[in-house]
Amino acid sequence: MNSDWNIQAPGHACRVCGQAFSDGTPLFSKLTFDTGGYTRHDYCAICWQAPAKANALSIWRSVFRAPPPPPAEALRKETADTLLRQLMETEDPANGNAIFILAVMLERRRILVERDVQVRDDGVKIRVYEHRKTGESFLIPDPELKLAALAHVQEQVVRLLGGTPPGEQKTAEPATATDQPERPPKENEER
Ligand SMILES: [Zn+2]
Repeated sequence: MNSDWNIQAPGHACRVCGQAFSDGTPLFSKLTFDTGGYTRHDYCAICWQAPAKANALSIWRSVFRAPPPPPAEALRKETADTLLRQLMETEDPANGNAIFILAVMLERRRILVERDVQVRDDGVKIRVYEHRKTGESFLIPDPELKLAALAHVQEQVVRLLGGTPPGEQKTAEPATATDQPERPPKENEER
C-alpha cells in the first residue's frame, strides 16, 4: 500500500524493551520512511536514546492514552473525525482537498494537534498530526489551497457532513453550527 494518507496508532509497547505502555506513560515517537512508506515507532523514556532516534524524519513526545471506551454519545462531534477516516480510506486523490480541510477543522477543535511538517522529495508538504485522544498519527499532504478553491472545498465538506452550505440555506433547517468548516489555517497564529 502506498497511499498519500496514513493513520498509525501508537504501539502498545516500547519497541526496544517491550515494556507495555499504560495510561499516562510518556511516549517518544518517531517517523521513518523507507520502501514500505512511512512507519511509526514508539519508545519508552529509557529507551529513547541515540540508536532509537536514528533515521527519524520526525520525532515527537506525547503521553500514552489507554484506548477510550467506545463513545456512547457525542456522535455528532465525531462526525468530522469519522468522515476524515472514511475519506482517507478511499485512497482517492479526488478527496485530497476535503481531507485536508477536515484535518484543519479537527485541529481547530483541538482534536488533532500538528506535530511536524515534512517536505517530500516532490515538494509536497506532509503535515503530521496526532490525535489527542487516541495518539494515532495522521499523515496528510497539504494541497496548499488557493482562496478560490478553498470556498468550493468547504462547501463540499459541509455537504458531506450533512449540513447546508452557506448561500444555499433554506429557511427550514440551518446548517449545524458545530460542523461548519472554519477559516483556512493562514490566520492561525499558533503555528
Ligand atoms: Zn523501552
